[in-house]
Amino acid sequence: MPGKERLPVRGAQGDLLRLVAAGHAESRAELARLSGLAASSVSLRVEELIGSGLLVEEGAGTSRGGRRPRRLRLSPSAGLLAVADLGAHHARLGLLDLSGTPLVVEERPCEIADGPEATIDGMAAAFEDLLSAHGPPGVPLRGVGTGIPGPVDPATGRVIAPSRMPGWNNFPVAERLGAHFDLPVLVENDANLMAAGEARSWPKSETLMVLKAGSGIGCGVIVNGALHRGRGAAGDISHVRVRSDSSVTCSCGHDDCLEAYASGAALMSVLNEQGIPVRRPADVVALVEDGVPEATALVRNAGRLIGEVLTVLVNFINPDAIVVGGSLSPAEPLIASIRAAVYERCLPLATRDLEISTSRSGPDAALLGAGSLLLDAVLA
Ligand SMILES: [Zn+2]
Repeated sequence: MPGKERLPVRGAQGDLLRLVAAGHAESRAELARLSGLAASSVSLRVEELIGSGLLVEEGAGTSRGGRRPRRLRLSPSAGLLAVADLGAHHARLGLLDLSGTPLVVEERPCEIADGPEATIDGMAAAFEDLLSAHGPPGVPLRGVGTGIPGPVDPATGRVIAPSRMPGWNNFPVAERLGAHFDLPVLVENDANLMAAGEARSWPKSETLMVLKAGSGIGCGVIVNGALHRGRGAAGDISHVRVRSDSSVTCSCGHDDCLEAYASGAALMSVLNEQGIPVRRPADVVALVEDGVPEATALVRNAGRLIGEVLTVLVNFINPDAIVVGGSLSPAEPLIASIRAAVYERCLPLATRDLEISTSRSGPDAALLGAGSLLLDAVLA
């Protein structure tokens, strides 16, 4: 029966499986071209992978005339991935099949300030709940992963010097999650996950900057179609110093970081001081939509500051697109003032074909990205 097969699959079979999983090939002919193996040898191995329940062949692929090729993809019954995206006050959790399709996504309240042990153990229990309620019988869990709203060392899966996450510094998140599930574990910065998920919706764009504007500010960078992690903190623009008339000390201890002016947390704290009660970034968006001038002015200023930081990066990296996601992103003045700053200050050659737009993948972008990166880990 399907689902009992060992992963990863080694050798040429494994190479073919990874080409299908990554979306590079969906027919035997494409597999032969990309792998350099003879067509007969590809066919034999594909039959074996279908026989062992890891691949399925279905429907019609893109026809180039003549007989229609059938389409290969990972079998939905070959396994499940449990993924989460942790926020300050809630967690978004999902079960995906190995083709990256969500079976179920739900949001649960979760206070990240309760500390890493309680948060991660709660996440593991929530994964178990989802599996027993929605996991098809006989389909094994193949990996677990989570996004963290702070910097993550990719080598160790530890959180390093995060803002507004008391008790999390240097905590071995991957180890703690791995203690609940003896499976491949992915722990990744949330903006990186959002970028990896968004990249699936921008197949023609090689270089993307994906901004996450929520309680904090993050940015994930896609270069040549792949996530650029650097040493783990690539894309972290939250502590770039910005120009300002006043002076605000950031949670990192320095003055005038972008995050201290333009993050959802910063906007909420100013509004609360002004006697306008807000609890979540979505409340700020609602105030803007209701035409509350204090909120609109703050969001517009945040967009200008973010745009000024992005200006430097756009000139430097020349991305094909800047994608703005996160819970503040529906506030129209945010993206409008990011656009204004970038188009005004960047080199004409850098902005000629630059697209600046809101997310195409929507609120599940980080979960989809977690699925895609975790699948790499499962098959690697
Ligand atoms: Zn700072």
